[in-house]
Amino acid sequence: MTATTRSTTGAALAARRAAAVAAGVSSLLPAHFATRAEPGVLRDQDGARLIDLGSGIGVTSVGNAAPAVVAAVRRQAAEFTHACFTVNPYEGYVAVCEQLNDLTPGTHEKRSALFNSGAEAVENAVKVARHATGRSAVAVFDHAYHGRTNLTLALTARNMPYKQGFGPFAGEVYRAPASYPLRDPAGLTGAGAARRAITHLESQVGADNLAAVLVEPIQGEGGYIVPAPGFLPAIADWCRAHGIALVADEVQTGFCRTGSWFACDHEGVTPDLVATAKGIAGGLPLAGVTGRADLMDAVHPGGLGGTFGGNPLSCAAALATIDVMRADDLAAAARRIGDAVTGRLGPLVAEHPGLAEVRGRGAMIGLEFVGPGDAPDPDLARRVAARCHEAGVIVLTCGTHGNVIRLVPPLVIPADVLDEGLDALVRAIRSD
Ligand SMILES: *Cc1c(COP(=O)(O)O)cnc(C)c1O
Repeated sequence: MTATTRSTTGAALAARRAAAVAAGVSSLLPAHFATRAEPGVLRDQDGARLIDLGSGIGVTSVGNAAPAVVAAVRRQAAEFTHACFTVNPYEGYVAVCEQLNDLTPGTHEKRSALFNSGAEAVENAVKVARHATGRSAVAVFDHAYHGRTNLTLALTARNMPYKQGFGPFAGEVYRAPASYPLRDPAGLTGAGAARRAITHLESQVGADNLAAVLVEPIQGEGGYIVPAPGFLPAIADWCRAHGIALVADEVQTGFCRTGSWFACDHEGVTPDLVATAKGIAGGLPLAGVTGRADLMDAVHPGGLGGTFGGNPLSCAAALATIDVMRADDLAAAARRIGDAVTGRLGPLVAEHPGLAEVRGRGAMIGLEFVGPGDAPDPDLARRVAARCHEAGVIVLTCGTHGNVIRLVPPLVIPADVLDEGLDALVRAIRSD
């Protein structure tokens, strides 16, 4: 078969995929090959319409094939497609770093560096923190997800499917209990949960050995878990008191997803380093590490980089994405989506014993499903998700136990399309 031979039926595509693509790379909706996008909608090989409440895992916040992004990428592609910033610099890279320095929490002097993926950004944040502090230990939390490279798998909590069989993992990674309001003992405050984590780290690692504490301000793959108020500020205070770099992994929560530019903004937390990716560039691969100038600039020239990091097409896409987010106030759009989703689904908690909680912030909403004794019920979550998929609505699951459905729609989804998707989800929950 030549590279340009095309088959278009779902069955033919699936057969080619099975023969050509590694089995370890699976798809949630394997029968629907993406062919086109419309606002809040993906089309498959048959033209079937799929309502998109997943954004390709929180990526197409600004829309999929958003016109401003497409135009910017076209323009850039006609000029040059690659230079390698470590060989010849270009303005787009600098402009994205300026935007990141401006938009991330805190008004202190910052520097940024660009990479290709969230995992690569997190790894580089750890490199910077270790280099700048001269320490090696890194703390992460229960339910954390930080990526799939060897170091970031060590940072990630969940075994199946991410870690199983892929060890040995990188060392000097220590896991502390997180704040999980639904499952924590009644009455445990955010400050109390932070104290629990800090006690654990002080006794098992020692504050003076820690280069960094990595935290997702709202945990993503781990279950869309919003920590109790006060948890993040208390962790931040402790890090500051002990010279530990607080690294906010805002890969999923950043870029308007939670109703502000970054999720740390909601609690006034200023991290030392911030990792960004997913929603940053309208679907093009781009990631960043942004942080205190004294930490970032501690690394010797040549110590950070990569062939593709900050690719010019991705930078052009990011600048267009940020413009749209500003001009159209997509943070406000995220808050409106959050209100619509929780207004519609919140009441189902009282109605359906299997739905324990509807939680989240902005357009990042999780539904946790439970069985008898409030035990996680991944089968129920899977059944509900499968019914949505049959109805042509893309919903994703997450959670350490796989028992959470997450809603992470494009921030430009039309209200009627969102309602249609929620109708299908409500039917799917009620029919169980
Ligand atoms: C997705 C994600 C990552 C990894 O990003 P990739 O681009 O898939 O490498 C890291 N951290 C968080 C919080 C994520 O959601």
